[in-house]
Amino acid sequence: MESQNKICQNCKKDFVIESEDFNFYEKIKVPAPTFCPECRFLRRITFGNYYNFYKRDCDSCGNNVICIYSKEGGAKMYCNNCWWADNWDGTEYGVDYDNNKYFFDQLISLRKKTPFMAFEALYPSLVDTLYTNHASYQKNCFLTIMADYNENCAYSTLITHTKDSMDCYRINESELCYECIGTSKSYNCSWSEELDNCVDCRFCQSCNGCSNCLGCVNLKNKNYCIFNEQYSKEEYNNILKELNLENYSNLKDFKNKVEEFWIKKPKKYYKGNGLNVNVTGDYIYESKNAKDSYLVTGLEDCKYTQFVTLRTSKDCFDYTSWGSNAELMYECYIVGENSSNIKFSTECWPSSRDIEYSYYCINCKDCFGCVNLKKKQYCILNKQYTKEEYFNLRGKIINDMKNNPWKNKAGHIYSYGEFLPPELSAFSYQESISNEYNPLEKGDAIKSGFNWVDIPSKQYKITLGYNDIPLNISETKENIKNEVIECESCHRGYNISNIEFDLLNKLKQPIPHSCSNCRHKRRFDRTNKPNFYDRNCDKCGIEIRTSYSPDRPEIIYCEKCYQLEVF
Ligand SMILES: [Zn+2]
Ligand SMILES: [Zn+2]
Ligand SMILES: [Zn+2]
Ligand SMILES: [Zn+2]
Repeated sequence: MESQNKICQNCKKDFVIESEDFNFYEKIKVPAPTFCPECRFLRRITFGNYYNFYKRDCDSCGNNVICIYSKEGGAKMYCNNCWWADNWDGTEYGVDYDNNKYFFDQLISLRKKTPFMAFEALYPSLVDTLYTNHASYQKNCFLTIMADYNENCAYSTLITHTKDSMDCYRINESELCYECIGTSKSYNCSWSEELDNCVDCRFCQSCNGCSNCLGCVNLKNKNYCIFNEQYSKEEYNNILKELNLENYSNLKDFKNKVEEFWIKKPKKYYKGNGLNVNVTGDYIYESKNAKDSYLVTGLEDCKYTQFVTLRTSKDCFDYTSWGSNAELMYECYIVGENSSNIKFSTECWPSSRDIEYSYYCINCKDCFGCVNLKKKQYCILNKQYTKEEYFNLRGKIINDMKNNPWKNKAGHIYSYGEFLPPELSAFSYQESISNEYNPLEKGDAIKSGFNWVDIPSKQYKITLGYNDIPLNISETKENIKNEVIECESCHRGYNISNIEFDLLNKLKQPIPHSCSNCRHKRRFDRTNKPNFYDRNCDKCGIEIRTSYSPDRPEIIYCEKCYQLEVF
């Protein structure tokens, strides 16, 4: 089919469905989308809450635990012990499909009855890790989010195969890293961005194969450089010693100086590694034929895909998180690990296949419209059927959805082919990841059909001002872990955890003066967003598509011009 222009049901802007898109929709037997790619992405991520934690009682054992579901939000919640116990599987909540009601209304009422897991994690794979969210295979970690295969890490998001690291965003296969953004296969690096294969680098940006560099940008295979100038090993070590960057105020001043230096040097129009073939988007690694994708690794023949951290994903469109041998995914969020052929679903993993319109189906096959179901096949609305009954009823529901579409609160038409409506999410909009990418006030969120519940803020007393934090970790006593410290940015209180105190000592970094949320926000803000603009290379003038909007201060080069800058 030829490409078609459409108007998005949500934002009312034009968007294009390309002929290659139609080929994919035909292959997986779905109608063409009615929301634009951006609105589809934002709708999917209303089903994720990474950073909002609450204390409440488990609805099974009554223990008071930390979880991601607020009491006010009303979702039923089991502590991770109870959720993963073998004494229930979700079919207890099974209901008959009612011909006289909309499928989506029945799915929403089922969602309200079934219990959610306290933290979103493959709990049986965690070792000495209580607090991790959207995670698997964590050993001795604390508040690692979107995290897989890490050991001794804390306060980091989108982190995989990493050890002894803290306060990082988008980091993989690294060790002893602190305050790094977009860092791969690096060791003992801090306050740096977009490093690949670097060792002992501080305050460096877009460097590759460097060691012992400080405040550098766009360098390749260099050592003992400071602000891109070559020094001897002895000179380098003397300057580093004089700068005394273990001291908080020196570090802060140096960071400002470095950012002024970085911004004067050209940036490549997109970030990714040399192993990509035929890709568009940003932060793309080891991928082939990946279009309009963002923050992805190991894609093949994928489009409109985000947050894929583990190799591999094949033939996926509108797929958000997280890979690890995923195939034939369409309009899915947090689905993966040996899973295939899943549509319009969220939280279906591991080894799940042939699932539609479901929300938390663990180790399931052939399910339709199920919520919080474990190790089942041929279920609809959590009710068990025979194979034959299953396929008959599934066909009937799809027909009903097409013939008599549901209309949501915002007036959007939900026929078969739309993702799950935001009303189904167990989160309020302001808790969701969608709010991080597209912040909305209460009134606007409600108008757009999103959930909104007012959640009271926590009560506590500040016991230490940020100006009273010792400037060096060597002068900091262990009892700082008992203090509620005032954040210098948002003025809310925060604590220093055990693992954090140990890591800061190991990495010789001062106690941070801002809370973990503000620290994350700084790293998030330094990463471009998944919006792409047409502009011209600032050197040769050829047209480029980039996530740097034309009004940004950075100098943006095309691939060819950028490569001439890197030496
Ligand atoms: Zn739109
Ligand atoms: Zn419990
Ligand atoms: Zn803060
Ligand atoms: Zn150029």
